[in-house]
Amino acid sequence: MITGASRGIGRAIATAFAAEGDRVVIHHRSSPELAEALRAELPGDGHAVVQADLADPDEVRLMVDAAAEALGGIDVLVNNAGIFLAHPIMDVSYEEWQAAWHQTLGVNLLGAANATWCAVRHMGRGGRIVNVSSRGAFRGEPDSPAYGASKAGMNALGQSLAIALAPRGITVGTVAPGFVETDMTNEHLKAPRGDAIRAQSPFGRIAMPEEIAAAVLYLASPEAEWASGTIIDLNGASYLRS
Ligand code: NAD
Repeated sequence: MITGASRGIGRAIATAFAAEGDRVVIHHRSSPELAEALRAELPGDGHAVVQADLADPDEVRLMVDAAAEALGGIDVLVNNAGIFLAHPIMDVSYEEWQAAWHQTLGVNLLGAANATWCAVRHMGRGGRIVNVSSRGAFRGEPDSPAYGASKAGMNALGQSLAIALAPRGITVGTVAPGFVETDMTNEHLKAPRGDAIRAQSPFGRIAMPEEIAAAVLYLASPEAEWASGTIIDLNGASYLRS
């Protein structure tokens, strides 16, 4: 089951799992056409589509239960959905500041925590949770501190639950990408800022969603038990130059 799977990184993750022969549950918030189109184009049968606003704990519970029913259980949950809202501290009103923190933590961190609580109740030994965090967890997001805090919280969530769920044979892994070419980063990647972001990596580019999906697939694999609790920092060597 992959949250936020109708586009971007989530779509690439869904496609990668289906290519391996897995049955996939595509979660979307408000894009039924995109989600259904993806289901139709994925190889294999038995894929399902579910809808929920991840900021609503009741919707999350209904969604995960529906996904488990559709597939007869859940082997892998990928907490991929997320939002990035700009709220520079000196430019926004107190009300705008409150709203940005509330929404960002509600979706990115609480949405993932709640989906995980629900999903592990449908998992047996060998179950896998994979969280999609961000570079913002380590390196600061000056215009979106709530985003950085939500992703740092996600890293901590993953490490804590890796310990808590190990006795049940369930692992929790995290990927923390730098910039990835998706709708979320469209605006950031326009020149001249985009050129500067691409130049950070010695490869002179940013990541494609498929490169993040490959790491998610590894953390979800049977071989990844020993990777439980790790955070894979995927950044194309962007921060190594002095
Ligand atoms: P995206 O905006 O294309 O996709 C985000 C998905 O989350 C969408 O499908 C959206 O519908 C879903 N979503 C947002 N709010 C939701 C809500 N309230 N309820 C349910 N679903 C909701 O962005 P993306 O780049 O594909 O991002 C996927 C994940 O990767 C996010 O968690 C993001 O923080 C993370 N990430 C992205 C980048 C990047 O550069 N694109 C870098 C690091 C981490």
